[in-house]
Amino acid sequence: LPRVFSGMQPTSDSLHLGNYLGALRQWVAVQEDHDAFYCVVDLHAITVEVAPDVLRQRTRRTAAQYLAAGVDPDRSTVFVQSHAPEHAQLAWVLGCITGFGEASRMTQFKDKSVRGGSDRSSVGLFTYPILQAADILLYGTHLVPVGEDQRQHLELTRDLAQRFNARFGETFVVPEPYILGSTAKIMDLQDPTAKMSKSAQSATGLVDLLDDPKVVAKRIRSAVTDTGREVRFDREEKPGVSNLLGILAALTGATPEAVAAGYEGKGYGDLKADVAEVVLAELAPFQQRFTELLADPAELDRVLAAGALRAREVASVTLARASDRVGFLPAG
Ligand code: ATP
Ligand code: MG
Repeated sequence: LPRVFSGMQPTSDSLHLGNYLGALRQWVAVQEDHDAFYCVVDLHAITVEVAPDVLRQRTRRTAAQYLAAGVDPDRSTVFVQSHAPEHAQLAWVLGCITGFGEASRMTQFKDKSVRGGSDRSSVGLFTYPILQAADILLYGTHLVPVGEDQRQHLELTRDLAQRFNARFGETFVVPEPYILGSTAKIMDLQDPTAKMSKSAQSATGLVDLLDDPKVVAKRIRSAVTDTGREVRFDREEKPGVSNLLGILAALTGATPEAVAAGYEGKGYGDLKADVAEVVLAELAPFQQRFTELLADPAELDRVLAAGALRAREVASVTLARASDRVGFLPAG
């Protein structure tokens, strides 16, 4: 079976609708006919400051949300990044074939370091995309289901794989991004020019998967819409309305244009009410499963321990091959 790898950062107590529509939903779909590895990338999460207890709790909660969304641990490998030390080890090697200028061109670093204050951003935040490349390349990954914001990092991963292969001999599979155009970038409800993010300055533009239904409904009702009254799918002129149409389309299996056509003679309020209804219907069973999973932490830890074993089986072979190619002396 072709390999799939993807991950999310445990940077919040709850994933949001962008994580779900942009990535998690695709993870569930592709696990049917792929050998999938789904990782909670806690090494990435410490690139910004976080309290140890908070990180531990978010790591468990993130894993539980994968399962609640329908990732099947009997079919897919679900694990925590720090349980497989091969990730950090390969990242070092890849960092040594990455140009400083090349790494400096990553726009996500620029965005995040500006937000946090540029002198407060860590070297880890800067080298983040190299660690991400290691995550992916360790598993001989063919396909990486992610949101649009990860396209540039994926391009770097491909460049590094090709560069390593050219310099040291065929070692890594060169992965392809799997980015679904229609749901690849869910926007912040309060600022529809920015993507919805766990690390947003204000939570009022997020739809968190684990939020109370009343909060979800209120956030959607308060979403920033655009001047005029007409419900039309036009990302340039009507970014707020188009974001809502995109969400509704994704959850009903229609195109945003077709959904928009149904609002002739109706207003923004009608659209928002329908979005809230459809989102809440999607979240109810998810929240129910999440609660059950979190009530049994021993079972969750068992899933993660089994996942780590399987992940290391694959990762250690790739790391050993890469180490040999580079010229590291075998340990014994
Ligand atoms: P952070 O702000 O901490 O970076 P995030 O919301 O960007 O959090 P990540 O853990 O970085 O979430 O990303 C997890 C996955 O979700 C990635 O595949 C990413 O591309 C996808 N993703 C994140 N935000 C969106 C969004 N607004 N729309 C679609 N996909 C998204
Ligand atoms: Mg992110």
